[in-house]
Amino acid sequence: MKTLRTGGCLCGAIRYESSGEPVFALQCHCRDCQRQTGSAYVAAVRVPATEFHITKGKPKHYIAKADSGNEITRVFCPDCGSPLYAQVSTRPDLVSIRVVSLDDPSWFRAEADIFVKSAQPWDHMNPTIPKYPTYPPGRSYRPETGE
Ligand SMILES: [Zn+2]
Ligand SMILES: [Zn+2]
Repeated sequence: MKTLRTGGCLCGAIRYESSGEPVFALQCHCRDCQRQTGSAYVAAVRVPATEFHITKGKPKHYIAKADSGNEITRVFCPDCGSPLYAQVSTRPDLVSIRVVSLDDPSWFRAEADIFVKSAQPWDHMNPTIPKYPTYPPGRSYRPETGE
């Protein structure tokens, strides 16, 4: 049975739902994620875009080239500024939900820390999960990996 996960921004103007199975749970330590969220890293879960829908409001998009060289669209609430999800140009089939925007983020378990090359020295990372300087092999958004 599919799990329906709902979420939204701080002020409630934007709501979304996702029924797809997560394909990758990660913590990203890149500088762009740090700046955008005001935190040491972003907890994110990649889900199928076809099973992800905005159910209320019209979020704003900020598009920029990321550390990886890929174009990343960061989607957020225009009223309260809460980050909601991101999408990479090379993988339009996936949506990377900012886990803490979910109504219930408690089930999340990161499979890896990524972009640890820019992790903050004061950040305490879970020593039991793999760490990758950038994208983990085979988990990249780059089309040549086939993922
Ligand atoms: Zn909002
Ligand atoms: Zn990042």
